[in-house]
Amino acid sequence: MTKYALPDLPYDYGALEPHISAKIMQLHHDKHHKTYVDGANQTLDALTDAREKNDFARIAALEHQLAFHVSGHVLHSIFWKNMSPNGGGEATGALASAIDRDFGGFAKFKQQLTKAAATCMGSGWGALMFDTLSGRLITTQIHDHESQTVQGGLPLLVLDAWEHAWYLQYLNEKTKFFDAIWNVLNWKDVAERYERVRGVSLIPEQKAVG
Ligand code: MN
Repeated sequence: MTKYALPDLPYDYGALEPHISAKIMQLHHDKHHKTYVDGANQTLDALTDAREKNDFARIAALEHQLAFHVSGHVLHSIFWKNMSPNGGGEATGALASAIDRDFGGFAKFKQQLTKAAATCMGSGWGALMFDTLSGRLITTQIHDHESQTVQGGLPLLVLDAWEHAWYLQYLNEKTKFFDAIWNVLNWKDVAERYERVRGVSLIPEQKAVG
């Protein structure tokens, strides 16, 4: 039975150089992302096994594993698409208008998201999310792959702040990675994600804007 599967990178390993090295992209996609896909599938198997044996003694650990691995798979799958060798520049159209409305302009938004990513303690992500309760854009700082997230938030743009995303190339200069990544961000992809979700409302009568 097909469960979770590792997607292909939408470009060559070296396509994002000099901003992200081919070696990082190869290890990050082929090894790290694959680990999350494999972990998600193994955890589903373990849950099936637990149901068959009617033994839920490890359910808390399994739920933690499932959240970690599936969330890692989700975020990396979006992350690869959020970047492009033809990226950079700024958001346009409806996405740009929403960024202006909710952050007071692209420059403020860029500063907020970069800071959210760069100040993760330990491993995590900075993310631009669509909040399906309010209809607004927010940033979040995700710990590991799944903690400190906003329920009902849908990720549009995610910046990987785990050391495996930058250390081989940037060593101790993490902030240089978060400056460089803006040169490869694929605003067309982010805008398409926004168009797909902007009509989604978690509780329609509470939706403030949209
Ligand atoms: Mn990663």
